[in-house]
Amino acid sequence: MILCAFESLWGLFAIAAIVLTFACSSGRSTTEPAPVADPPAGGRGARVLMLTATAGFRHDSIPTARQVMAAMAASGAFSVNATEDLSLFNTDTLRNYDVVMFALTSGELPFSAAQKSALVDFVSSGHGFIGIHSATDTLYEWPDYGRLVGAYFKEHPWTQEAAVRIEDAAHPIAAGVPASFRVLEEFYTFRQNPRPSVHVLMSLDPASVGADGDFPLAWTQTIGRGRSYYNALGHFSETWNDARFQNQIASAIRWASGR
Ligand SMILES: [Zn+2]
Repeated sequence: MILCAFESLWGLFAIAAIVLTFACSSGRSTTEPAPVADPPAGGRGARVLMLTATAGFRHDSIPTARQVMAAMAASGAFSVNATEDLSLFNTDTLRNYDVVMFALTSGELPFSAAQKSALVDFVSSGHGFIGIHSATDTLYEWPDYGRLVGAYFKEHPWTQEAAVRIEDAAHPIAAGVPASFRVLEEFYTFRQNPRPSVHVLMSLDPASVGADGDFPLAWTQTIGRGRSYYNALGHFSETWNDARFQNQIASAIRWASGR
């Protein structure tokens, strides 16, 4: 009987030790740092970091682009911080954003190797990238950027009114955009047709400029766990003030942020 009581006592110690081990380990896990890529919180609009810095051609429409983005953000669908300060592009600062937008950027912007890694990691870990117009006339010497935006600008053979066509009307970015519409723009062509590696949402109607061929103008891509969108329109201030363009940008911000 006495032996049995000792055995029971040791059994109790063993159980207590196991319980304590679980209690300690679960306590420890609650103090671990939160994951880098927070899931989007319901109800909060996407936080956009908009870059309009240029190291080459500078578009007159940049002030309008920034005003229009601020006005659209005032509706509450998203928030935007427009900047030309390249130093904001680092791992710590990017944690405060859901989408990075290169709008009317140009040339070889002097990002450091660490900043380049930070941007690629930001997108591939589950965030969004949006490029507008001359975002494809930017960072030719950084091939990872070329993959991020989808193509590099070649030339703009047509600055005129022409017809564009929505190719995937079922895509959320095409919601509320006419299937075909005419717009005055500076229409881009690219060094390589991006169609084989991207999902084309909008293209130029070649007949409307008297040409023949395939000219994608807007597309989406998946980059790791992240999303990338590019739209070649946006040369003129009038385009930024055009509801058909604004609708695409607002939807693209929602889509690229995973909302
Ligand atoms: Zn332009």
